[in-house]
Amino acid sequence: MGTASVREDSSPNEHGKAVQLESKKDVNGSAKILRPHGPVHRFSNVPEKEMYPEQPLEANYTPITEPSIGTFDEDSPWAKKTILCLDGGGVRGYSSLLILRALMKEIQTLERSEDPNAISSAYSPLVNLPLENSLDSTSNDNKPNPGYLPCHYFDYIAGTSTGGLIAILLGRLRMSVDKAIEEYEMLSAKVFEAPPSRLKRSWTKYNSIARREYLREHFESMRPMRPSYFEKSHQFKSDPFRCRTIVCSIKSTKNKDFQTPFLFRSYDHIKNAVSPNIILERNPSDSHAFEIWQVARATSAAPSYFGSINLFDDRYYDAAEDINNPSLEVINEISLISGGSHDAIDVLLSIGGGNAHGNMPKTKFGGGGLLQEMTTISAVVHDRVTSESKAHFFAYHRLDVEEGLQDVGLIEWKPKSSGARTIKRIKDATDRYLRRADVRSQFLQCAEALVRKRTQRAQTMRWECFAIGTRYKCPEKDCPSPNERYQNRNSLMDHLRMQHDHAPLDAEHFEEMQTLLDKGRTCSD
Ligand SMILES: [Zn+2]
Repeated sequence: MGTASVREDSSPNEHGKAVQLESKKDVNGSAKILRPHGPVHRFSNVPEKEMYPEQPLEANYTPITEPSIGTFDEDSPWAKKTILCLDGGGVRGYSSLLILRALMKEIQTLERSEDPNAISSAYSPLVNLPLENSLDSTSNDNKPNPGYLPCHYFDYIAGTSTGGLIAILLGRLRMSVDKAIEEYEMLSAKVFEAPPSRLKRSWTKYNSIARREYLREHFESMRPMRPSYFEKSHQFKSDPFRCRTIVCSIKSTKNKDFQTPFLFRSYDHIKNAVSPNIILERNPSDSHAFEIWQVARATSAAPSYFGSINLFDDRYYDAAEDINNPSLEVINEISLISGGSHDAIDVLLSIGGGNAHGNMPKTKFGGGGLLQEMTTISAVVHDRVTSESKAHFFAYHRLDVEEGLQDVGLIEWKPKSSGARTIKRIKDATDRYLRRADVRSQFLQCAEALVRKRTQRAQTMRWECFAIGTRYKCPEKDCPSPNERYQNRNSLMDHLRMQHDHAPLDAEHFEEMQTLLDKGRTCSD
């Protein structure tokens, strides 16, 4: 029960006055809030533009005007978004994961040098989160994983084709990069196995059925260990206040007379009535009731792997030939969500599929033509995103292994049993790329920006909802709205004061209120 108080740095409040904060580090790990010293102010509970009316989290919530507890500017770290985009690249998508593993390692070093207490990316100096909540969300053993998860650094993780599969693993399933690499290796062994040339046609037909079944079973077996309040663990739709996932595909009518890019979203995108980019608003609507495995199938539905998939009267194909680099689609999506603003992005990290150089030899399966096309599309998108980033002042980083992957086939996995030879080739080329001074410099800038963002966010009340899906419900027995869920402690505290006449948060009532708030805290239900 050892409780030690740690004095934090003073943080300026909105009036420029210092608020000294003291954190309660409870080794038992229950949530504790900072004790305020001196003047306190209440942060504004301004709803996000992308809040969804059909999910009235705080429908009965009426802001109060008297001060309750708060920290420094609560909203600003959340205003601009961080985005991770992953190109398609067949088996070379493995290099995207290796780049991300190196990035998360850099991030870990930076985080721990700034605060040795930051043993996981869920860490907050404001609310002492239980250690168990930093478990890798899909691990089935019970060992704590003091890991740094991409879903804690990015608001959106998007991908096409094999990049789409990785986006599902890191975004929707909230895996660590190491866990995603493990899953990707298992998938690759089954999916990227090239056919013996003399049996190509019959082998492909036979194997595509086996591959489909394998992919389905594999993604059906992976469930987030701790689904949030809004989530059904097998569905693609997830808690909109946590990392969001976008997966690109091509939708076609069954007779193929009409084809259009389609975005699978883990959140609702309500049709935008006023945007000038309305023509590029991809399939706006509530998020559909797709299951995670269906989205995985649709984004990787290349003829070489599985063939198309029919879902709800439409047919879906892999989008590698059209939007292999999804960055522009995602920039457009964020702009539409933000009411047409192009200034809603802070950092965009785009990782290529190792196709940076166009001179690919024709392979016996998934040949040079497709590779050339993917490469050209990705390069054009890269140029346009560069211009966008300059015009709208966001940090844009593009990492793509430029040399050494040209002759690794899209569906090469050698030897069949382990893929060890292919893995080594991809690993060597990625290591060489990451050692380059210009790449290293870009890499560091990106890691620093992401750590800065997370560190600022972790000092806000909203962090625990984003990081581990926390919600609060009223612990009072006679509550007139017992099913209401509150997104943070302040909202529940305001409700307790308004509805149940609790005393304001002053030194005398501090512990009493914290106990009540802890009672109402829930990570998933
Ligand atoms: Zn109540």
